[in-house]
Amino acid sequence: MTSVLTLENIVKTFPHHRRVFTAVDDVSLNIQEGTVYGLVGESGSGKSTLARCAMQLMRTTSGRAIFEGQDLGMLAPKALRTVRSRMGIVLQNPVAALNPRMTIGASVAEPLRTHTSLKGQPLQARINTLLDEVGLGAEHAHRLPHQLSGGQCQRVGIARALATSPRLLILDEPTSALDVSVQAQILNLLQDLQQQKGLTYLLISHDLDVVRYLSDEVAVMRAGKIVESGPAEQIFANPSHDYTRKLLEAAPGHGQPGIADSHTFNTQGSD
Ligand code: ADP
Ligand code: MG
Repeated sequence: MTSVLTLENIVKTFPHHRRVFTAVDDVSLNIQEGTVYGLVGESGSGKSTLARCAMQLMRTTSGRAIFEGQDLGMLAPKALRTVRSRMGIVLQNPVAALNPRMTIGASVAEPLRTHTSLKGQPLQARINTLLDEVGLGAEHAHRLPHQLSGGQCQRVGIARALATSPRLLILDEPTSALDVSVQAQILNLLQDLQQQKGLTYLLISHDLDVVRYLSDEVAVMRAGKIVESGPAEQIFANPSHDYTRKLLEAAPGHGQPGIADSHTFNTQGSD
């Protein structure tokens, strides 16, 4: 197995009332090629901060983020930008992530213009392919974000993240802002894309059902630390940590058919 992303002893502190607050406290993890690594934890546990450190969108206080064998902290800004084109990120609020005055086509073109030399007809063709891959039509290219639903905007966010053919996608609460029925459709799309393209995901959510639906490996984060990690079946069948048990008990799908089942009778709905 090949590691795509390895985090080694990541620490991130922020100044806070003349003291330091440790948002990420010595986190290590390893994500294997073609797998989904789920990171679950309550709001404020440090998940998004860890994601930013993993992409070096923010300097780590200490520790290393190693992507495709390269220590990102050692790279010059230009080399870091090139490496980052192989890491896509999808954020929670799909509407806010898009420029309200830019057409969908222009938004999808943006990463292509930055990272590739595509222009004219080949650029247009690539945009249409990306829209098609996320379940949108070429006609959406001419629309503005406010003319799309939340679910459609998140599809655009995924198309943008996929534009440079990344190997790894970091999905930070990709469905948390969406209606439950739409959440299942987006998770379904993410699963299809992952399988078709052999992508590697770091899937972050406060919602255990979301993580359970897609993940091969799961880590449970609490107050900046990973308190438990392992194969998904093992974590869900036999949680060893009190906190994980409490999360499992609090999850809406606990003991019930989960979101995996709800999507099977909900894929007809339109987002
Ligand atoms: P999560 O994504 O798990 O909800 P975050 O990583 O967003 O958690 O935040 C973890 C903690 O770090 C929170 O207490 C948050 O207030 C704090 N934090 C995040 N970013 C900053 C920042 N730029 N400056 C100061 N504190 C921050
Ligand atoms: Mg967050």
